[in-house]
Amino acid sequence: MIEPLLRASLPHLQEVYDRFPARARDLLTSVRGLSLSRIRYAPDTLTFLRALHRDECWSIKQVKAFQMAALQAALDHASATVPFYEDYPHLEIRSPADLRKLPLLRRETVRQRPGWFLSHSIPKWNRIHAGTTGTTGANLQVVYTEELARANWAFQLRQWAWAGVAPREPRVTLFGARVVPPSRTKPPYWTHNISERQILMSIFHLSENTAPAYLDFLRTQSGKVLEGFPSVLSILADFVLQREEQIPMRVVFTSGEPLYPPLRSKIEEAFQSRIFDSYGMTEYCGLIQECEYGLMHLAPEYGFLEILDEHDEPVAPGEEGYFVWTGFVNRAMPLIRYRIGDRGLWQNEPCECGRAFPVVVPTITRESDILRCPDGRLFSPRALNQLLKQADSLRFCQFVHDRPSRVVVRAVPGNSDPNGSATRIREGLARLLGPSMQVMVEFASEPLTRAGGKIPLIINQASQ
Ligand SMILES: [Zn+2]
Repeated sequence: MIEPLLRASLPHLQEVYDRFPARARDLLTSVRGLSLSRIRYAPDTLTFLRALHRDECWSIKQVKAFQMAALQAALDHASATVPFYEDYPHLEIRSPADLRKLPLLRRETVRQRPGWFLSHSIPKWNRIHAGTTGTTGANLQVVYTEELARANWAFQLRQWAWAGVAPREPRVTLFGARVVPPSRTKPPYWTHNISERQILMSIFHLSENTAPAYLDFLRTQSGKVLEGFPSVLSILADFVLQREEQIPMRVVFTSGEPLYPPLRSKIEEAFQSRIFDSYGMTEYCGLIQECEYGLMHLAPEYGFLEILDEHDEPVAPGEEGYFVWTGFVNRAMPLIRYRIGDRGLWQNEPCECGRAFPVVVPTITRESDILRCPDGRLFSPRALNQLLKQADSLRFCQFVHDRPSRVVVRAVPGNSDPNGSATRIREGLARLLGPSMQVMVEFASEPLTRAGGKIPLIINQASQ
């Protein structure tokens, strides 16, 4: 029950944490890690993991039967305990067509009134609050529970097993945790979480100047599991390959961003290992994971996926459409027919791995350029994404790098006080980028889009 409290006070704790020396930060990271580890490796997690492994023998018929029953349970739970769904008709779900009688839920609706989506079956003290920035960059409050965190970890461990990785194997992580103070200019740019034998490397300090330190350290970690955002691992892979080097790692896990083929081959070459990619989201309503034969499988126990065209009709296999998720695992904040904004397609072929889990290819998710500071520091979309947690009154927010030493925070106002949000983002970005970059704010009525309606977070016009 510590996690809800801890999570709520993280922003405050971060300031305190940043003031500690590196060794003390290792200790604090490990204490924080211990709390997460107790959730992740609770007996319930491992029991659930065993059940998940049994599901891998399901036939297609069993997958379908499970999903229909889980949809029914999700709908019943939502209409009985969640204000937003109170007026939803009572449906008997026998086929996906039955579900289509319910309306689609837009991300904007959830963003504006997160409170409507909370189940009153989950007491306040058991709720963990998190934020997401998602495809459009607008902040959305998400609530979950420790039970969800355990289940979520079990799903991750199932994919680890597909890659031959056992629970608690040592790993090097490059996700968005702020593990080193922003102002730091000397190594270490990483911290140790002893309880999970994990090294957390900062994604905010990557630059040509710091590359030698990153690589020296990574060489000492060779042979471990490596995990991170594709754009971040691609920056690291560039450093390795530019030096005509390779740093063999055991296996690479990526998530949080699309992994396009050129990125994949670069990362696999630099780290001499296979990538296992996955697609998930902070709303915890769906999960797609790559198996050992390289196909992306829907996790059928996690959520139900519809892929719909512009007219909200199901697309044929091979045709791209919008992802619409109905989650099974987050009982604190159930999302029914949630159109998240990402796109993808069904791949109608059996996988050599023999699992009957449907094969899906996510195509468009957060796609973006990289911001390059004049002093050589590189910021991936995920490094800047976190600033958008301040963007609660903006409909969209993008970073336009229009001149070598200038970035424009391009804000599309939402409901209330756009100035406050835009100023906080500008200040946060200026702190992160330092005095060599000028940061400005500009208001606009619509976001900048690219082919296929993609809304990139970073638009780099300066290095093109
Ligand atoms: Zn497979």
